[in-house]
Amino acid sequence: MSRQRFDAISESQKRSPIEVDPISRSSDVYAAHVFNDYRMLQCLTKDALESVRNAIFSGSKINRKVADQVAEAMKGWAISMGATHYTHWFQPLTGATAEKHDAFFDLLPSGQALEKFGGAQLVQQEPDASSFPSGGIRNTFEARGYTAWDPTSPAFIYGATLCIPTIFVSYTGEALDNKTPLLRALHAVDEAATGVAKYFDKNVAKVNATLGWEQEYFLVDRALANSRTDISLTGRTLIGNAAAKGQQLDDHYFGVIPNRAIAFMKDLEKECLLLGIPVKTRHNEVAPNQFELAPVFEEANLAVDHNLLLMDVMEKIAVKHNFKVLFHEKPFAGINGSGKHNNWSLTTDTGVNLLSPGSTPMKNLQFLTFFINTIKAVDNYEELLRSSIASASNDHRLGANEAPPAIFSIFIGTQLSNVLDELEGVTKGKLSPEEKTELKLNVVGKIPEILLDNTDRNRTSPFAFTGNKFEMRGVGAKTNCAKPMTILNTIVAKQLRDFKKEVDTLIDKKSLKKDEAVFNVLREYIKTSKRIRFDGDGYSDTWEKEAKRRKLSNNKNTPQALQILTSKESIALFQATGVLSETEIKARQEVELETYIMHLQIEGRVLSELVYNQVIPAAVEYQSLLIQNVLGLKEIYGAAHTSLSDATSSIIEQIGENIVELKKKTDAMSTASAKAEKQTDTNKKALAFCDNVKPYFDDMREYCDRLETLVDDRLWPLTKYREILFIK
Ligand code: ADP
Ligand code: MG
Repeated sequence: MSRQRFDAISESQKRSPIEVDPISRSSDVYAAHVFNDYRMLQCLTKDALESVRNAIFSGSKINRKVADQVAEAMKGWAISMGATHYTHWFQPLTGATAEKHDAFFDLLPSGQALEKFGGAQLVQQEPDASSFPSGGIRNTFEARGYTAWDPTSPAFIYGATLCIPTIFVSYTGEALDNKTPLLRALHAVDEAATGVAKYFDKNVAKVNATLGWEQEYFLVDRALANSRTDISLTGRTLIGNAAAKGQQLDDHYFGVIPNRAIAFMKDLEKECLLLGIPVKTRHNEVAPNQFELAPVFEEANLAVDHNLLLMDVMEKIAVKHNFKVLFHEKPFAGINGSGKHNNWSLTTDTGVNLLSPGSTPMKNLQFLTFFINTIKAVDNYEELLRSSIASASNDHRLGANEAPPAIFSIFIGTQLSNVLDELEGVTKGKLSPEEKTELKLNVVGKIPEILLDNTDRNRTSPFAFTGNKFEMRGVGAKTNCAKPMTILNTIVAKQLRDFKKEVDTLIDKKSLKKDEAVFNVLREYIKTSKRIRFDGDGYSDTWEKEAKRRKLSNNKNTPQALQILTSKESIALFQATGVLSETEIKARQEVELETYIMHLQIEGRVLSELVYNQVIPAAVEYQSLLIQNVLGLKEIYGAAHTSLSDATSSIIEQIGENIVELKKKTDAMSTASAKAEKQTDTNKKALAFCDNVKPYFDDMREYCDRLETLVDDRLWPLTKYREILFIK
């Protein structure tokens, strides 16, 4: 009998919260480990500071002399803070972040110190990149991608290392990471949105996309998590019978739980403050042991970096508190999964949130312009947006237990629906003075500054307008937000560009006034994007049918969802906006498909091992005990034993039947997997794993979980849901 489960349980029961030293004043430590504008102000010359600020504002180049000065200042500051190394910190397509550490100094044999960090090292570095996925762009024999400084995201000290956020590109300039396309998309949306915002305010010179993510996660005791190979190797439980009352139990246990979790959160908050991640912790999630953390929103590129950094920090701090943090979107079957809502908006350099209704009709027309263009963009590219959140792990979450479905739709609430209905009736061409006044007073002018019915009413809508921002809720907890943010900002950029062209044409060719032209174009958008608007229950079968009628995509798995990336329309979109070339987009699709295949391969192997090495042996052991019992009864009572051993015999049979079926399914899965493995085309291989291998996982699980309910608890080797899910 395996002792691992019971050892882990007793270890977990001995734990107590780890004390965390409180911080006196948040403002004293906030961003203490960040080389931000304030620090540059202290140690750069005026010209150098100006040059860096320009680069951040308009993307202008930083010359070598300035780079040298910045590097010198960064190094001095970092060393004074105790840093010994520096690294270019980047986001390869694997989804996580990568680093290659170098020391600031080397000692020559003569004992002299050799300078190793100057402008050249700040600006560019060659990591040994041959092992990062590139989807065939960069042949491994010329494994020479390089990383390049992104001055828009400030360097920070983490541990004893100065981390410099960078992009990662091939020598021929193709993006090998998630940051490069994001920066391109943000540039595109800035340009397009600034053009449109100028209709309403000539002073606008820049528009930033903003992102406020809400990170959900599970905390599991480290010993308990490590006692299960499925959690350690795949991040989720591949088998496991739901606890008797599952989620409902949380009322009962929740009150007792938080002490250890709260200590973890305090520690985490402290580290986040030092790193300039503006978090506000919360711990209010639905499932037991599930928590959420949300920051104040920031410029999108910075927010993405902060989220990636946060996930890394969380993993490290969890170790200190004897936890394992699970970012998997569905670590436990039948229980709420973990998402990462992406709240998104556009803000001008004059401080105006373009998705916030205002106090005057003009401000509201501006709001409606950006609001309706976003709806139109999502309507045009709903399938592409869906593809940006596709992953093997998120497939388990979408459409189940409160997570939004795989069908994209937009919730805007009744108040705004009414406004759009009114606008749909606007006259074609020139408007009469009466109509203009009517629109100003009774339609546009009546949008309240705070939209009460848009708070949190429709919790399962994949794309909801929540008063002054859109909230994209399908994003998975593990996902790099750069992916959905790249697509969202790209499609909105394209849409705003098209909008401006149309409005300008009406002004130039039909001599309409600006607001007349805007009303005219918006009216058509409202009419043509109706199918994407849906305020109802995204779970119902009727919606699925209705969505099909509306020709909305419903891609339930990752290989299907990824197909759209290389459609003619997608390639044209990426080219027109300068976000991705055809080579880059094909490479990305390839990497995503390969990642998907790899996940399923690993899950299949782990599951087989669990079946053969843990589940079947435990079931057989218990069955043998029962058989001995029946034989003993027979020895004592002879023919009369049957009335006494009926129940036991029936359990023996049930166990036997389940073992037989489980073995059949497991072997069939292995055969299907071997067959899928033979596919040489990545796309076909991913589909084969999805359609022919994955369905067996559920079947196998079913028999394993039945056996779990039949076998003596003392013999069951795998830590159970009820034990993992409730921290003592
Ligand atoms: P919820 O009910 O979804 O928890 P909150 O009001 O707490 O809603 O906000 C959720 C998130 O929205 C926060 O992380 C916040 O930073 C973010 N947010 C608020 N305003 C904006 C904005 N203009 N742009 C982007 N994110 C925003
Ligand atoms: Mg939310």
